[in-house]
Amino acid sequence: MEEALYKHNFTFKKKYGQNFLSDPNLLRAIVSDAGVDGDTAVLEIGAGAGALTRALSEKAKKVVSYEIDKSLQPVLAETLSGCENVEVVFRDFARESLPTLEKELKGEYLVVANLPYYITTPVVMKFVEESKSCLGLTVMVQEEVARRFCAVAGSPDYGAVTAAIARRGSATVTRYVSRTLFTPRPNVDSAVVKIDFTAGGFAVESEKAYRETVRCAFLNRRKTLENNLMSAFSMPRGEAKELLRQADVPGGARGETLPPRALGRLSDLLFGQRKELFL
Ligand code: SAM
Repeated sequence: MEEALYKHNFTFKKKYGQNFLSDPNLLRAIVSDAGVDGDTAVLEIGAGAGALTRALSEKAKKVVSYEIDKSLQPVLAETLSGCENVEVVFRDFARESLPTLEKELKGEYLVVANLPYYITTPVVMKFVEESKSCLGLTVMVQEEVARRFCAVAGSPDYGAVTAAIARRGSATVTRYVSRTLFTPRPNVDSAVVKIDFTAGGFAVESEKAYRETVRCAFLNRRKTLENNLMSAFSMPRGEAKELLRQADVPGGARGETLPPRALGRLSDLLFGQRKELFL
């Protein structure tokens, strides 16, 4: 891989979050964490020099890998030669329509990626909010981001992103990865997070109501949920108090102390009583 990068005069571009992996044990471990087997279709975001793509190709049925940087074309032609089940798409994944892409993938798939750090959260949220046939994501992210994805209610890392992910499934760190395993070496360590859409999620009456309830819960962390409900939905205090009583939320509670399922119950009640807010 390094030889191919050198041969084709490749220069790393910080703006694209280019920190490549090459350790074969780590690459195999990521593929194994993801649960990829011969029946799995994989979507990768950021092929880079193709190290993870090749490891995925050895286990998966097929791999579709996006790469924004066209200067990697000759490198990937070399490093992925003979990988017949890989298709590299040289486009900006952030601009892709997920419904269209899912039609093209024709069935269930897993996302496995060493994500470019500058778009980690928007990419993950795209799958959390829009995917229909994605079974889950196994992604390398900065350690701090991993903590946010997997946080428990009431902890400083718990936030709107945690609650959004938890509605779709379970999120766990499968391994911590030292910065020394990346080229070039970033300033922070990383972790692999597995977000499993097939386990641990829950249904809500309205996804929009849940999103708005979560937004409201974290609107102002220093304020009580009652006060945040009043500001977010222009709700009289009496109505906010009654809603929280029905949702079994103690008076004076802050939004960040409510676990995702409690936020789901609150959003269902709110949707039942004030549908017009979410049309
Ligand atoms: N998978 C490779 C590996 O593990 O060595 C590369 C990972 S590197 C962290 C992220 C890769 O994503 C880079 O190759 C970068 O050019 C690519 N990338 C950055 N932004 C992208 C985008 N919007 N769409 C597709 N690829 C992108």
